[in-house]
Amino acid sequence: MIRLFIFLLISSSIFASTVDRYRWDNGETYLVFLEKNNLPTRELYYNLDKDDQRLTEEMRSGIHYQILRDKNQHIEQILLPLNDELQIHIQKSGDSYSFEAIPIISTTKTEAFYTTITSSPNYNILKATGSKKLAQIFVSSFKHSLNFKNDIRKGDKLVMIYKQKYRLGQPFSMPTLEVAMIEMGHKKHYIYLNDDGRYYDDKGHEVEGFLLAKPVRGARISSYFTKRRWHPILHKWKAHLGIDYAARRGTPVHAAGSGTIIWCARMGSYGNLIKIRHADGYETRYAHLKSFRHGMHRGKHVKKGEIIAYVGTTGRSTGPHLHFELRKHGRAINPLKVVQVTTKRLHGKAKKAFLKLKKNYDESVTLHLNNQTVFKRLPPFEDMSYIHLLDKESSNG
Ligand SMILES: [Zn+2]
Repeated sequence: MIRLFIFLLISSSIFASTVDRYRWDNGETYLVFLEKNNLPTRELYYNLDKDDQRLTEEMRSGIHYQILRDKNQHIEQILLPLNDELQIHIQKSGDSYSFEAIPIISTTKTEAFYTTITSSPNYNILKATGSKKLAQIFVSSFKHSLNFKNDIRKGDKLVMIYKQKYRLGQPFSMPTLEVAMIEMGHKKHYIYLNDDGRYYDDKGHEVEGFLLAKPVRGARISSYFTKRRWHPILHKWKAHLGIDYAARRGTPVHAAGSGTIIWCARMGSYGNLIKIRHADGYETRYAHLKSFRHGMHRGKHVKKGEIIAYVGTTGRSTGPHLHFELRKHGRAINPLKVVQVTTKRLHGKAKKAFLKLKKNYDESVTLHLNNQTVFKRLPPFEDMSYIHLLDKESSNG
């Protein structure tokens, strides 16, 4: 009610403003973005503290952002999403601009659809939904258990139930698969998301196959992963997109998984940094290193567990530690969720709970199968001029 009132009140006063939606280009940097838009680099970058400067490095290609302009086409506000929870808010204040990190407001909906295979799951999901992301999460979830190339027949059926985040009426961020079912030659295959955040087949056996070891042996975690955190002393929103392992200077750092080194040099506040590219769009980063192990270079293939570098405190760092990041398709994810995965089988209480969950999922799948649920999404908002209001509301909380 209050929201509606505020909306009506302010939407009239910004009647002549316009909001435009843009896509962050490949290779675009925050500083270039400021210059391109004639925004002051001193206030919006050089005067910021190191943490905020670091946040600006998180902008990734393909991200959609919004610019609100007044009737004279002067920039009033900009929203730059950094991840699915935090965004940079640039706002005109007097003759200059202010910078602030604020939470993103999003709503999550559970969606489902059914489709019949005419060619391949990838093709038919894309055709039914137009979403590469949905096709991708479906195909990769069965990658270790089924062979779509050889065993798919025309007329096979699939059902997907997943959670999708929406921001300003637009789908936003990677969907989370809850249950996937594919019927191949009258045999149904399932994958379920359990309460522990891992995927299991119908027997309660884990299906994820990607494993990582802890990159520093015997080290204590001094800072955990968080996409957004309110700093009570600094009174601002921050993010820590990795895990810090406190360890003595010179402690060996191990490759968390096998892959190819794609960066082995200094990089801004990361200090000495190694990036390794792994299979399936995964990438790991090891920052603040004292030094690299002899022989490490870009293009080199490393094995899981191999020593690649030594703990240090280069870059923006207050003491010797390893800052470790895990990314999937460029998006930072919590390494602990994947690191601690060992393929497991559910037993006892955990299995009982899983079977209960599974029963509900199965009923939903059957429903969508019988109804032949068609994929549909609400059209995006036509008037986006109140974006800033919706997003601003949250920052007062
Ligand atoms: Zn860190």
